[in-house]
Amino acid sequence: MRVKEIKISEDLCKGCYLCVWACPREVLKISKERNRRGIRPPFPAHLDKCIVCRLCEYRCPDFAIQVITDEDERMLEGIRSEELRWYDRIRRRDELLEKHGVWWLR
Ligand code: SF4
Ligand code: SF4
Repeated sequence: MRVKEIKISEDLCKGCYLCVWACPREVLKISKERNRRGIRPPFPAHLDKCIVCRLCEYRCPDFAIQVITDEDERMLEGIRSEELRWYDRIRRRDELLEKHGVWWLR
């Protein structure tokens, strides 16, 4: 399992830096720039050093940080394709209803 991305929510992160201190590999650094909420958010400065221990996720009190691995991506692809199948079924049902009407209301 390899890390693909570390996402930090601008809306949820309050800049407490528990994630930065929790990381045993010093992957996360504190940004010099302030975001639109006036917070200097952490960012993954050394993604290549991440060992996917997820301590940053467990420590974040606001669920603001997400470690995304190649396995997560594959799982999300699976969920997306399952959702698409459902949308397709709904679309086909709507087409049938349009064509034949709602027979039990006739
Ligand atoms: S998953 Fe572990 S190594 Fe990777 S950034 Fe989070 S705390 Fe650091
Ligand atoms: S622990 Fe969570 S809220 Fe605190 S700085 Fe890290 S991402 Fe932001």
